[in-house]
Amino acid sequence: MKCEACDKQATHVYEAYGNRMHLCSSCKDQHEIQKAYNDRMIEIVDLSNRGDCDAALSILQGLLDAQGDRDHTGGFRYGILSHQALVLKQQGRFAEGLEKLRSINTFPSQSEFLVNQLAIAKLLGELGKHADAIGELERGLDAASESSLPTALSLFAEYARITRTESSEVPARFRDLFQDVVRWWGIPGSKAPEACLEPFSETIQAADKQRRESAARYDHLQKNLDMLRSKHTDNKPLREALRAYIENEPVGFYRDSAKSALRELESEA
Ligand SMILES: [Zn+2]
Repeated sequence: MKCEACDKQATHVYEAYGNRMHLCSSCKDQHEIQKAYNDRMIEIVDLSNRGDCDAALSILQGLLDAQGDRDHTGGFRYGILSHQALVLKQQGRFAEGLEKLRSINTFPSQSEFLVNQLAIAKLLGELGKHADAIGELERGLDAASESSLPTALSLFAEYARITRTESSEVPARFRDLFQDVVRWWGIPGSKAPEACLEPFSETIQAADKQRRESAARYDHLQKNLDMLRSKHTDNKPLREALRAYIENEPVGFYRDSAKSALRELESEA
């Protein structure tokens, strides 16, 4: 039997959260260490919210010291170090947070690399190092390819935000990448010729705003669907709500997500 998480031979049966999975030994390690982290998540978040950040940091460090050797993808180490950086940032310990983020050298995917570059840039911004922040954003954007296009929008938005406070501009060499990002999200309007006449950073901020507003509408739709699901046994009201949403939603990514949810309900009806 093949491992359910990769293509290797399954050698273990792994049980957690009421599920049984056939896994190879590396994937079993990865699931076990992630579970060890998840099991302490509430405690860690609770401690940092109460201001006991050193206790939160020390639990995270303990997990990394005890389980780090079994992290075959780098995903666990990435998760712990980013979490430590976040806790340090909450405390205003920006330089220490930066050190944590900079010590991550393996990323589970390119998207996480971009997320990390953004987090580094934000901490540099907190330290007043705007030119360095821009350098880190550019490093992230230069590495972006098809798989990390959705994440690149947040880096563009941060870049635009910095340039607008500094009266500078996002370089034109990023325009093609930005068009790919806009195409990935299905954000309308940004391809209009007149859009090229306005400053690049304004175009970026407008697209980012559209994406965020659309995400909020999608979130609202999900809550509405949950409410309808709890009130009706028949899924007709849900289908109607989805159709109305699809009709009015300008951003392609969210509209398409709603379309596939609608298709699923129609096949059940
Ligand atoms: Zn596997």
